[in-house]
Amino acid sequence: MEKLIYTFDEGRSGNKELLGGKGANLAEMTHLGLPVPEGFTITTECCMNFLADASFFEKQLKAEVLKAIQNLESETGKSFTSTENILLVSVRSGAVFSMPGMMDTILNLGLNDHRVQDFAKLTNVNFAYDCYRRLLQMFGDVVYGIHKEQFNVLLHQMEKSLNKKVTDFNEAEHVELIESYKNLFSKNKVAFPQDPMEQLFEATKAVFKSWNNQRAKVYRDLHHIPHHLGTAVNVQSMVFGNSGEESGTGVVFTRNPSVGDNKLFGEFLINAQGEDVVAGIRTPEPIESLQTILPEAYNDFIKHSHKLEQHYKDMQDIEFTIENGKLYILQTRNGKRTAKATLKIALDLAAEGLISKEEAIMRVSPEVIDQLIHPVFDTEKLTAVDAFATGLPASPGAATGSIVFTADKAKEYTALGKKVILVRQETSPEDIEGMVVSEAIVTSRGGMTSHAAVVARGMGTCCVTGCEALTVNESAKTVLCGNHTLTEGDMISVDGSTGSLYLGEIPTIVPENDQSLQQLLTWADECAELKVRANAETLQDLQTAIDFGATGIGLARTEHMFFGEERVLEMRRLILAKDEEEVQAALNKLLSFQQEDFYQMLKTVQDKPMVIRLLDPPMHEFLPHDANEIKSLADQLNRYPSAVEKQIEKLQETNPMLGHRGCRLGITEPLIYQMQVKAIFNSAIQLAKEGLTICPEIMVPLISEKAELDYVKSFLTETIEATFKEHQMEPFPYEIGTMIELPRACIIADQLAENADFFSFGTNDLTQMTFGFSRDDIGKFINTYKEKQIMQQDPFQVLDQSGVGELIKLAVDKARQTKENMMIGICGEVGGNPESIAFFQQIGIDYVSCSPYRIPAARLAVAQAVLK
Ligand code: ADP
Ligand code: MG
Ligand code: MG
Repeated sequence: MEKLIYTFDEGRSGNKELLGGKGANLAEMTHLGLPVPEGFTITTECCMNFLADASFFEKQLKAEVLKAIQNLESETGKSFTSTENILLVSVRSGAVFSMPGMMDTILNLGLNDHRVQDFAKLTNVNFAYDCYRRLLQMFGDVVYGIHKEQFNVLLHQMEKSLNKKVTDFNEAEHVELIESYKNLFSKNKVAFPQDPMEQLFEATKAVFKSWNNQRAKVYRDLHHIPHHLGTAVNVQSMVFGNSGEESGTGVVFTRNPSVGDNKLFGEFLINAQGEDVVAGIRTPEPIESLQTILPEAYNDFIKHSHKLEQHYKDMQDIEFTIENGKLYILQTRNGKRTAKATLKIALDLAAEGLISKEEAIMRVSPEVIDQLIHPVFDTEKLTAVDAFATGLPASPGAATGSIVFTADKAKEYTALGKKVILVRQETSPEDIEGMVVSEAIVTSRGGMTSHAAVVARGMGTCCVTGCEALTVNESAKTVLCGNHTLTEGDMISVDGSTGSLYLGEIPTIVPENDQSLQQLLTWADECAELKVRANAETLQDLQTAIDFGATGIGLARTEHMFFGEERVLEMRRLILAKDEEEVQAALNKLLSFQQEDFYQMLKTVQDKPMVIRLLDPPMHEFLPHDANEIKSLADQLNRYPSAVEKQIEKLQETNPMLGHRGCRLGITEPLIYQMQVKAIFNSAIQLAKEGLTICPEIMVPLISEKAELDYVKSFLTETIEATFKEHQMEPFPYEIGTMIELPRACIIADQLAENADFFSFGTNDLTQMTFGFSRDDIGKFINTYKEKQIMQQDPFQVLDQSGVGELIKLAVDKARQTKENMMIGICGEVGGNPESIAFFQQIGIDYVSCSPYRIPAARLAVAQAVLK
């Protein structure tokens, strides 16, 4: 039988899959000689075995847990069941990937009505009953689903009626409170087990089951964590942060998780236990003040935290407890951080020599880059308004939205397409679904490590916590601030970088391309093999693409040059022309429009390559459809409406996406493509005369047969040569290539390569044509496909490697047989997707092309594809 339980001495940090992150790190720290209370870990495999068949617990696990407890008793010299030398334990969940606040933990396990009295004699009444009360509350919540808050209500009632704090209760009063807690159990038709072993068994099973609770599932879906991993259970002897003024508990990051500065960042509470800090019950003190309150513990902490950071070579998120002046480390993990901090810490660690440049590149995910280039408030507009309240800047960013007070309302509003800001006293794990959909999260209580803060930073959502000026009344749906009263639906703007809240909407701008980002991307460019180009055609997009570091333009569509009131009229005139004269008139107009467009486009990209795709959409997209429009077109063209209508009818197609479009149009109406290349070369020649080096790359869409390409290419070449002559210009190099977007084109790629100067895979159409999925209609069923696990991903967003990917690979191999060094690129949505990029790297593509805002992330992804 495989081993079901490991003591902290036996595990190591490499065993995360089996021991969970928390267990593996507790073992690693034990190994490093850090002060970690003794304990053992029940493996994730036990969890999955138990969830598959509950009898596993009785039949196999129980006996092992008993043995492990006996072992722990002899290790600690204490007893878990007798009334002397009392051993209490915590039962702590811990999955492979840390899921903060998602799973459940129970402290002070092992106390019962008798042992609490003996424990009180060993320590003191107040402390012992504080522990017992907390045990009942956590046990009731985790094991029986009796909400924590219901216990708090009882506590507050009794404090009120006795007119004193629980810390001042005498023994009889404590006992009375405990009785009221037990009554709450009875009301729920359950009982608190008095036998410590029974408590441990029930708690372990409950932690196992918590793997499948709703909020854990939502969190996993959000972070793409598989559902089959299970959680480990850590059983650890208790140390007590609530045993007086020389005790306490805290959470510290070794660097600032918001901005990344190399400076401790954290909080602690004196005389407190467990989640008190995170739950935002009392406002904690900053870690620096520990230096004056408990200097010895502070110095130990500094020493240990440094050791941990050096050992793990990353920023650590450390949980500690101090019992009567002695420090214990209860958890460490690589800390969650904002995008900004991710970048800064990776660069700093590289500068400190702890990690290499390559490791730094691998430390930052492409999604992080996406967040870094997202908008912030326009500072000029900000100076014109005053903040109505300010809290802690818990997670940076800028957001505007309508106030909602509950997770359900957040979901309701966003389902209607509204942007929301979730405003609460504090958040708890139950709120996760609402937090996911919110633009920003604001809490009136809690610190920088509160639940809201940690979760928001993980998601990259803007967040302000501890905004104490706000009085949030969740049931009345109001928030009071000075003399303002805001209600549900009111618009506010939240600045997570400063902690400020504003009334109404404030415009945002995109931040400057900052230096650290440039640094990382420069490193990335150095080790990348794939080049990154952009899909762009408007002047603004072209400029953005170049600013973001595109090495060229992989796809400049020309459709837009045919739209706009004046132009579409000429295009319509052309399509509906009665005679040659009318055709020429329309073409001349279009030529002069497009010449100017190409001139500006080519000038913007300068000497960088630009692939220009000739006209692609079906003819009917240019024609009017409703009667009024047809009438006014007829007027403009000086025709009878009925005649125009008839002509339009004739041009109707049953299936336009498979119809008269792309090169097919080029072949039936060569004048359009000829006009386009003429416009391109007129402007290219003009720019060449102005001193630029330009090499236009002309791309013919929707080729499925070599003869199509041959035909189009020959008349294009003729036109281009004639244009050079007209300008009395020595021809400069240019290329004519094709888009590969039909399965047949992939299969005959070797033949196409004979006459094509380059290939670019149009993955959108290729996916559409390979699956036979209309990309405009896939939305109607793709979610069901995902839910039923028929497909894991939308193939228009992530390349389908085994189908569409195989076709691309086949085509690349065939093309390279014909022309070894032909330039081959990818344009289309998946060109910017990191997972797909890794595949393109493998099959020997030269460049990917994506929309301008995806360029920085793609530059990183192409480097990571090499390093992986
Ligand atoms: P989470 O995964 O939600 O962080 P933990 O298992 O880390 O849950 O437990 C939460 C807190 O409970 C810890 O940060 C620590 O303060 C407290 N705790 C857990 N185990 C012990 C223990 N053995 N002794 C004292 N406190 C403990
Ligand atoms: Mg917890
Ligand atoms: Mg923890």
